[in-house]
Amino acid sequence: MYEALLGRYPYPKFALIENFWETGYGMPSFTLLGSTVLRLPFILTSSYPHEILHNWWGNGVYVDYREGNWCEGLTAYLADHLMAENRGEGPVYRRTTLKHYADYVTGSQDFPISTFRERHNSVTRAVGYGKTLMFFHMLRLELGDQQFIDGLRTFYQENRFKRVSFSVLADTFSRVAGSDLRPLFAQWVQQTGAPVLQVKNVRVEHQGKTYQVHARLEQVQRGRPYHLRVPVFMTAEGEEHAQMQSIVMNGRETDLAHTMSSRPVRLDIDPEFDVFRRLDRAELPPTLSEAFGDTHALFVLPTQESPELLEGYRRLASAWKLTMPDAQIRLDQELEALPQDRAVWVLGWNNRFRHEVERSLTSLPVQLTEKDLVLDSARIARQTGSVVITSRSATPPFNAIGFVATETAMAIPGLSRKVPHYDRYSYLAFMGEETKNILKGEWPIVSSPLSIPLGGPRAASHPIHPPRKPLISVEP
Ligand SMILES: [Zn+2]
Repeated sequence: MYEALLGRYPYPKFALIENFWETGYGMPSFTLLGSTVLRLPFILTSSYPHEILHNWWGNGVYVDYREGNWCEGLTAYLADHLMAENRGEGPVYRRTTLKHYADYVTGSQDFPISTFRERHNSVTRAVGYGKTLMFFHMLRLELGDQQFIDGLRTFYQENRFKRVSFSVLADTFSRVAGSDLRPLFAQWVQQTGAPVLQVKNVRVEHQGKTYQVHARLEQVQRGRPYHLRVPVFMTAEGEEHAQMQSIVMNGRETDLAHTMSSRPVRLDIDPEFDVFRRLDRAELPPTLSEAFGDTHALFVLPTQESPELLEGYRRLASAWKLTMPDAQIRLDQELEALPQDRAVWVLGWNNRFRHEVERSLTSLPVQLTEKDLVLDSARIARQTGSVVITSRSATPPFNAIGFVATETAMAIPGLSRKVPHYDRYSYLAFMGEETKNILKGEWPIVSSPLSIPLGGPRAASHPIHPPRKPLISVEP
């Protein structure tokens, strides 16, 4: 598949080698994978294609790091994202990527792609992998699939076994496209931050047999406006698929007008997450990454629990705090109320603030009681299961609330180790001392500011549009 997409594989052989350390390394003509990851059935569509592709990017064309590392984002885009796209999950993959950026990269932690070398935490991953792969996605949408592929092939052919930088990529793609793409590269590679989109002045005009949808798109981030190509979806009554229009923005504001022959029922701005941008909280369901991403989070320990459980929770909080340098750990009896200015982790069934967690869940399809957790038609009994749930506080700025509770002290080390790996989920349940995962899922999105109902009969919860064809099909 990659030879068809990019050009000849550069080495005479490829080997997959099992390592006694848990590594995931792509080396010239071989990959070193740890024995645990090697056993996972899904590596065939995740780590394995990623490491194979590193023979083109990284070990075929080498990285000149002086302008930043282009290779991880490009490899993630053409391996992990491509696999997702082939499963019809491209939009979900991109949403997770943007959510990761929104949750982990805040304020002064942000940095431009041009200073990315390698990942060592969630922040460097969100920019070095996430922002970079979104940049290649936008480049593809700007050029169209064929020209994007031509650019990749030319770049590979001309630079095999050479050390090259982002400038060479920019020059190659400009030559192939016949237009100067260097400003586009500079905007995404050298600038820190992300655009933030808002929509206003939405109205529908009805004239004779046609309807016109008007709206104003705005970029409201600080700093310079970006050049953006924003997909806008319009759904009309009685039509199976939404109509899509790409809005090109070159300044802070752009007005859009779209004529339809049937009554429009909804307007959606970038509903498939094709633009790298800072997402609005309300576009996203609360997930664990939100609570893990707040480095100032507060852990609230349950005074009323048994000494064993209390000690277990204390250890869990200390372990998680290692990635949240400014987090604090307090006992529930020391607090009058939960703070509103930071994420909060409420630990234990007997925590004084459990009722606050219950209250934060009222708009969600779940019930947390004295005895159990009921959701997804499953019931997790307090005596046998361990539960992890996230929600948001009811008042602005709607900070994350995490709840972890178990009656099995022996399960806490397992929770401490496993839960951070499930950070894209909203709720989890585990069974027994061995903490076997039995339930995981994401809350539904209640209201997004970039999805505007235009009246008429209630439309589906999401605009429907035929999925984009993958860049190349994975053979079954
Ligand atoms: Zn990689």
